[in-house]
Amino acid sequence: MLNGLYYNTYFYRVELPSKLLDNAVNEFSRLPGVGRKTALRYVLHLLRNEKDSSHNLAQSILNMRTQIKFCSTCYNVSDTEVCSICTNASRDKKIICVVQDVRDVMAVENTGMYRGLYHVLGGLISPIDGIGPADLFIDALLKRIENNEVTEIIFALSATTEGDTTAFYLDRRLKPLTVSISTLARGVPVGDELEYTDEVTLGRSLQNRVPYQKG
Ligand SMILES: [Zn+2]
Repeated sequence: MLNGLYYNTYFYRVELPSKLLDNAVNEFSRLPGVGRKTALRYVLHLLRNEKDSSHNLAQSILNMRTQIKFCSTCYNVSDTEVCSICTNASRDKKIICVVQDVRDVMAVENTGMYRGLYHVLGGLISPIDGIGPADLFIDALLKRIENNEVTEIIFALSATTEGDTTAFYLDRRLKPLTVSISTLARGVPVGDELEYTDEVTLGRSLQNRVPYQKG
């Protein structure tokens, strides 16, 4: 009977009987994909559990937020100044895979088919959202290529307008440098985000990468 209440949307608009509960629900509901209904479920779950579990959750979020670093070389997330991929002696330092964000590094790593390095751009060029080349770590990529023996750059960018625009721009900036430029074979359906592509498809399109041609 009581369960019925939770499905009444009105219930989620009214103020909760505790301001403390209400604050917690508000904070959880700010997370992507979490509405007030789910937020309330999380909060009540924490309330029912040992105090330790709430403490551990809060502490791990704080630690992550205050202590995490971005690799000074590739801008991947890292606990140290330079990330574990950049410092790994067995990685091929001649190849750099250029990706939009950290989730894409994880997606490519999950394929188990790539042994080179990465460069995280921190986004894609998107005039509509006011994101230009200067907002991304593009100059840092050019410096890496100039200062090291990089022979190949792989664009592993999503097959969206923003991904294409970014690849087009990068190609123009990279042209003066003696480096070959390739891109993922388009087994990936247009418009799909890289992170949602299954490992086998992504691994295959990485292995079957083709020379970049603007088009
Ligand atoms: Zn790194």
